[in-house]
Amino acid sequence: LFVSFVVNKQTMKIQLANPRGFCAGVDRAIEIVDRALDAFGAPIYVRHEVVHNRFVVDTLRQRGAIFVDELHEVPDDGIVIFSAHGVSKQVQQNAKDRGLRVFDATCPLVTKVHLQVARHGKNDREVILIGHKGHPEVEGTMGQYQGSGIYLVETIQDVEQLQVQNPDALAFVTQTTLSMDDTARIIDALKQRFPTIEGPKKNDICYATQNRQDAVKDLADHCQVVLVVGSPNSSNSNRLREIAEHNGATAYLVDGPEDLEKAWFENGEAVGITAGASAPEVLVKRIIEKLQEWGVKQVDENKGVEENVRFVLPKELQQELDKSDSDLASSSQQM
Ligand code: SF4
Repeated sequence: LFVSFVVNKQTMKIQLANPRGFCAGVDRAIEIVDRALDAFGAPIYVRHEVVHNRFVVDTLRQRGAIFVDELHEVPDDGIVIFSAHGVSKQVQQNAKDRGLRVFDATCPLVTKVHLQVARHGKNDREVILIGHKGHPEVEGTMGQYQGSGIYLVETIQDVEQLQVQNPDALAFVTQTTLSMDDTARIIDALKQRFPTIEGPKKNDICYATQNRQDAVKDLADHCQVVLVVGSPNSSNSNRLREIAEHNGATAYLVDGPEDLEKAWFENGEAVGITAGASAPEVLVKRIIEKLQEWGVKQVDENKGVEENVRFVLPKELQQELDKSDSDLASSSQQM
């Protein structure tokens, strides 16, 4: 065993997927918590993990963010941030009723789905959401609907068994971080069963999820072992691991270098590394360093599509930051 590892580590190389890691929605959500901590000081309450990554959450917690499951855990004078996954109308209303100061880090691409759901409700359409039960994005999106019926489907079997009130007034939407291929099959089944169903042109899966899935397929074509950097509760990271496996690689979801096991690399010549949309690049770097300690010499990066998506901060937060900048400027003029 030892001999085989030595042989392989001399020839083994790392191939990095591109794009990988942070998307624009995650960048924005983390910046919102960071800037709120800068402007108002600790504590800042965050409803739900702002993004599904242990390292990110621990880092923000050290700065003074307090993560809560529900709003009743936030004191009346607290400042609260909604996570990138979005919240239901009920949660928005509760915050308003209590007069809480809210900065909303819901990804604009999730908000887009919320608006579709609300529009379908207004137009008396029942809505079918394709997504994963229990995921906070799904709870938020379902809770944006005000109409006669919204249903969650996870599989083609769910589509077959679904009972709706009016099959001629239906629409579908999807979670943003699903597998492209599985979702396409579910949408086909929906269209077959309900031919007049309305929906987006293709699906609501976001650009970042699509690009990372395309990149991991390419990686799995060339690497026997694929590491996906991401936390176990990250939907898009789990999909990347599954897609790598479906495309022939042995794939592992890892939160950081401490999760690596030498035995995984005994038979592979190329280790592919990618990262979910909520996983920071510093973790990819640490994993590379660990593999280099184990003897890997070559690191190559795949070419991939360039992402230029950026989202602005919420208006209310930006105004607050502008105000504290100008206060700072005027106090330094007086000095
Ligand atoms: Fe937004 Fe997509 Fe990133 Fe989710 S994965 S935060 S939907 S860009």
